[in-house]
Amino acid sequence: MGLYHSTRSRDITCTAKQAIRRGIADDGGLFVSDALGDVTIDIETLADKGYHELAREVLAALLPDYTADEIAACVAEAYTGTFASTEVTPLVPLAKAPGADGAPTFVLELFDGPTSAFKDVALQMLPRLMARTGDAGTTDERIMIVTATSGDTGKAALAGFADAPGCGITVFYPEGKVSRVQNLQMSTQEGANVAVCGVRGNFDDAQSAVKRIFADRELAARLAEHGVMLSSANSINVGRLVPQVVYYFAAYAQLLRAGAIQAGDAVEFCVPTGNFGDILAGYYARRMGLPVSRLVVASDKNNVLFDFLTTGTYDRDRPFYTTTSPSMDILISSNLERLLYYAADGDCELVADLMERLANEGAYAVPDDMLARIREVFGCGWADEDEVAAAIRRCWDDNAYVIDPHTACGYHVLEQLPAAPGTAARVLLSTASPYKFPRAVAGALGLFCPPDDFACMDVLAKATGTTPPAQLAELQEKPVLHTDVVDIDAMSAYVENATSRL
Ligand SMILES: *Cc1c(COP(=O)(O)O)cnc(C)c1O
Repeated sequence: MGLYHSTRSRDITCTAKQAIRRGIADDGGLFVSDALGDVTIDIETLADKGYHELAREVLAALLPDYTADEIAACVAEAYTGTFASTEVTPLVPLAKAPGADGAPTFVLELFDGPTSAFKDVALQMLPRLMARTGDAGTTDERIMIVTATSGDTGKAALAGFADAPGCGITVFYPEGKVSRVQNLQMSTQEGANVAVCGVRGNFDDAQSAVKRIFADRELAARLAEHGVMLSSANSINVGRLVPQVVYYFAAYAQLLRAGAIQAGDAVEFCVPTGNFGDILAGYYARRMGLPVSRLVVASDKNNVLFDFLTTGTYDRDRPFYTTTSPSMDILISSNLERLLYYAADGDCELVADLMERLANEGAYAVPDDMLARIREVFGCGWADEDEVAAAIRRCWDDNAYVIDPHTACGYHVLEQLPAAPGTAARVLLSTASPYKFPRAVAGALGLFCPPDDFACMDVLAKATGTTPPAQLAELQEKPVLHTDVVDIDAMSAYVENATSRL
């Protein structure tokens, strides 16, 4: 039965529940299962299935040790009353296909959840999955979730885990490198079990430090004495990845219902990418039988994935740019390790070697045949800051549809790349509400931007006839509860201190 093990070794296997509880393998690798693709989802009957039913099917296939009742309960709790649309992830047609080639194009809106970014889809689910892992460990053990965020994971994780029984959560964000709205979303978070802290450094520094905290055996031993275990809500956790697979099927089901495609037609997905979690879920969906012509990685100016997919060399030694799409300002794309594992046909030694090179030398190169296999499935493109602004503007002019700067990277890439052969429809994953980034979006539309971001929201609302999500507009009235800022070196002690309050 679909056991999980590290991408870097098969020595230790565990159940899906244990993989979710632990977050990351002891050797620093990510949990993967060789059963991926053994269970497929029936495409012929997709059109008849709503989001909840699809979610139950996909979760059951990938998390085989959860009972049907457990999965049904998780799905009902995560997706009832939490998302604005009954579709959970609604699909919206664009009036004019971006670029010259005319394949009908749709936007999959993933931002209707409580924090207005796509991460809600997974982070409304993860705490529910985590709460049912108890039989995998000692019963009174408590979990401290430790997460580094480039902007959106933090708030979505806080919203999911605040006051969750048996759990605490500590979130680190790069100080000064998230948008004002993102910052306020986190610093106003209520809950007795939450800690939010700025870090002097960028996201990669914070993420690397969090990985070191997880690998610190002495710290783990000290915490274990107090009955606490660390876990991760970052997209390296299997429990983050699996719920994201669902919306690829949900998009296809909606295309079928709209009559835009016939069952079996191939669809191309374009995904604004940072840590490679969202798009990797598309790869899982493809392995599970979804007809996907190509998965297109859309990067911002931090185009390390574009370079990797075009040359086969991953090199993180490069300038880091702070852009208007902060959640994609990432140079170490953690989930790529899972793709490497599958593209190497499960060669753990090769993956371990590549990851060691990345850690020690800052770069690695994959064998040519492996790159070729990856490129059969993945396309790529990227947008610089001017192109992002132009894409927001053109999307509005052509479709009267407002997109955020992350989604705009994808829009730009769709304009640049012709559709893959055999593509019946293209789907752009929209990862955030434009109101999370009102200044960048209003600026791109040529609107006057007052100094205050909330005034920018009003300007954007009036000019486009759209409405800011209530949970963002009300942030300006909320008291700031978290003001801590630490150096990278102090993160470990910060976690230990937060844990002592659990
Ligand atoms: C996290 C995030 C991304 C990148 O997703 P990955 O899974 O890290 O590739 C893109 N856009 C937004 C708005 C995000 O919050």
